[in-house]
This record gives sequence, C-alpha cells and structure tokens, in this order.
Amino acid sequence: MNENLLIENTTVVTMNPQRDILTNAGVAISGERIAAVGQADEIRARYPHAERIDGRGKVVLPGLINCHTHISMSLQKGITLAVPDGLYRVMWPVERSLTPDDCYIGALVGGAEALKGGTTCVIDHYFHMEQVARATTQLGLRGVLGHTIMSRLGPIIGEREFEEAVAFVRRWKGRHPLVTPWLAPHASDTVSPEWLDSIREIATEEGVGIHLHLAQSPQERTYIQEQHGVGCVEYLYDAGFLGEDVLAAHCIYIDEHEMDLLAESGAHPLYCPMGHALSGRPARAWELLQRGAGVLIGTDCVCSNNLMDIVGELRIAGASQKQLTGDREAMPASKILEMVTVDAAAAIGMGDQLGAVVPGYLADLVVLDFEGLHTAPCYSLLDNIVYCCNGRDVATVIVNGRVVVQDGELTTADETELVYLVEEKGRALMRRAVEKEEDLAWIWRKK
Ligand SMILES: [Zn+2]
Repeated sequence: MNENLLIENTTVVTMNPQRDILTNAGVAISGERIAAVGQADEIRARYPHAERIDGRGKVVLPGLINCHTHISMSLQKGITLAVPDGLYRVMWPVERSLTPDDCYIGALVGGAEALKGGTTCVIDHYFHMEQVARATTQLGLRGVLGHTIMSRLGPIIGEREFEEAVAFVRRWKGRHPLVTPWLAPHASDTVSPEWLDSIREIATEEGVGIHLHLAQSPQERTYIQEQHGVGCVEYLYDAGFLGEDVLAAHCIYIDEHEMDLLAESGAHPLYCPMGHALSGRPARAWELLQRGAGVLIGTDCVCSNNLMDIVGELRIAGASQKQLTGDREAMPASKILEMVTVDAAAAIGMGDQLGAVVPGYLADLVVLDFEGLHTAPCYSLLDNIVYCCNGRDVATVIVNGRVVVQDGELTTADETELVYLVEEKGRALMRRAVEKEEDLAWIWRKK
C-alpha cells in the first residue's frame, strides 16, 4: 500500500460540523487517516507523489455505517419473506442446523455485499461471532461485533453462549483496529432479567456498548406485559438498562410514553426500513426523532430484507416515513445521511474518528459514481444521493486507509468464489434444516 492516496477533482460531502459540500476538491489519505481535504490544486501540490484516484464525475462521502446487521445470514436469503411469524416459524428452526463454518462463509458473503454497497462499518449481532470477526478482518470491513446471548426460545441458548459473549469482548478489546467488541443480548423476552442485569453491569465495567432487538414482535410485547406488567421499553428503562451506549433494533411495538423513555434514556432505536416494510410493521422513526430519540438506520439481515444495500436503504427510509406520516417534509435527505454517518459514529463512541471527511479522522470513505442516466441532472446533491443512487453506484470503498473496493470490484475477496460458496453452503444448510424439522419442507418446495 502506498503511504499516501489522493482522490482528486471530485465533489466531497464532508458531513463536517458546517456540513460543507466541496466541489473541484481533493481528499488526501496518509496511512489509515485522512490527511487533508480541500481544493484539488492545493491538495495535489501538497501530495505530489501520492497514488491517485480520479474523482471526476464522482461524489465522496464518509463511509456509511449500517447500524443493524447479521451478515452471516447470507445463507438464509429471503426465507422469511411473506411468512407470518417468520422469526419463530422459519428463522430459528433453520438456525438450529447452523455450523460455525456456515457463519464464516455467510459473513464473508454478507460482508462483501455490504462493502460493495458502500458500507464501511457494520454493527453486527449473531451466533458464532468469532467466525464473523475472522471474516470481517479478512475482508477489511470495520465491525462493532456482538455474540448473541439468549436464555430462552432461540436456536442456540444457554450459559456457554453467555460466557463466550463475554470472552469475545475480552479477547477482541484493543486487538484489531477494525473490530470493536460489544455485548449482544438477543431481545427483552429471550434473555432472563438476571442475565440482562449482568450484561448491563459487564458492559459498564468493560466500557463496551450493548446491541439488542427490542419490541420487535407482538409476542415479545405480550410476554413482557404478562411477566412485568409494562411494555418492553418501559421494562428495560425501569431496570436501568437503557443508556446512550444501547442500540435497540426495531422498537416497533411501543406506545407514546415508551417513545419518550427512549429519547430520555439516550438509547438509539434502529430503524430498518426495508425489513419493516416487507414484514408489514410500521416503525415510527420520524416521530421518534421528533421526540428527541437518536434513531439510526440498519438493513437488518438478508433473511428479512433480501439485500445489504445501505445506499438503496436510504431511499426506502425516506419514502416509508413520508408515507407513514402523510408529510412530504418528513425525514429529509440531510437527516437520513446524518443517521448513517455522524449520528451513527457518535452512537458507537467514535464520533471524533468516523462519520465525516475531516483531516485527522480515520479514512473510511465511499466514492459514488455520479455520471449515470439516473443521477443527472443534479439540482440537489443530497436528494440525488438518497433518491437516485443505490449500492451499484459505489465505485470505490476505502476502510482504514485501505482500498477494499476498486472500480466496483472487491480487492480483498474473489466474488465468483463467494457466489459459489454461498450457493453450496446455503443449500446444504437448508437440506439439513428440512431433514431435522419436517415443518420446513415447504421452503425446499418453493425452490
Ligand atoms: Zn435483527
């Protein structure tokens, strides 16, 4: 790797505090950090020997942070689509047949798809997280990674998983520049109150965040209501569990009081627009933002979304909220872009390192091709990014100063081989699952 890299003659959406958009600009990268941002001529003069990327007709953005993923689930693409209670009837029964190697291959494929689509950092939650870390570090993808903890209902439950989750945090803390280990209890109804208390305590002690699902299904709400007499958010709020270091996926089955509790606690509801739309669950993300909650955006898994395309997800994020609220001004493009850059970076405790194209920040960048029929003419850059682009417009991706996608191609993995592997491993997993669980035979018949 050349020590210095220069993207020149380009447009830069800096997301700096002034939200400057620079034209005819350049971005210099030195090692893993952004060294300079400014007028193209000046930057070129300062870095005459840098390796160059021609940025003409392109737009540079901070690397996009996908705040809720299960990248290993590539093997289970689309299997819960149009299935009522898919989590219980399909997802978990299939996961009972998962192997660590399935998770490794799945994470390679999901991570590769995420990178190609402009994601530079995933906040990921799943079983066999050691295998996910192995895949993300191999791909050069940044990850905030948590090993799933469940004490009831799920496919892989028990004390051993809890111990592994804590061991994972201790093993990976400070070990690799691309890995930030977190704790990942599954949800409010699938982890016992005692374990949730311990997880909260350990997270505070270790100085790591917590990523979980919260109020994601009517079953979860009903169970918590029966056990504790309150809604899922109120239950965790009363337990002192919620805080700024908590990222809570979905937050769908909540009342207005709980919306305010989310805002007051500083916890971050994670809005997954496509997954919510496909499952018929209206997430009141704009209303949560209006009430002061720090909502962020994720794609969730390809089992419930079918894609890991964070750029494409932005369009749905805006469209769904405008439709839900009946307000054309709801969820503007400027806010949507903040949610996947500066807001997300701050939520994972890296607000002074990531989320903006600013000298001194880590060099996580996405370069979008802006010369397509579908992007011209451009009267409003941020609107065109959100409403005209998708992941296929991503030309270059840089993570921690390393070019991991160049001219739309991965530099750290062989895409053809990954397609072969995901077909082979995916079909083998489905075959094992169907053998074990008769009820799943229809998945196979669908093919
Ligand atoms: Zn999820």
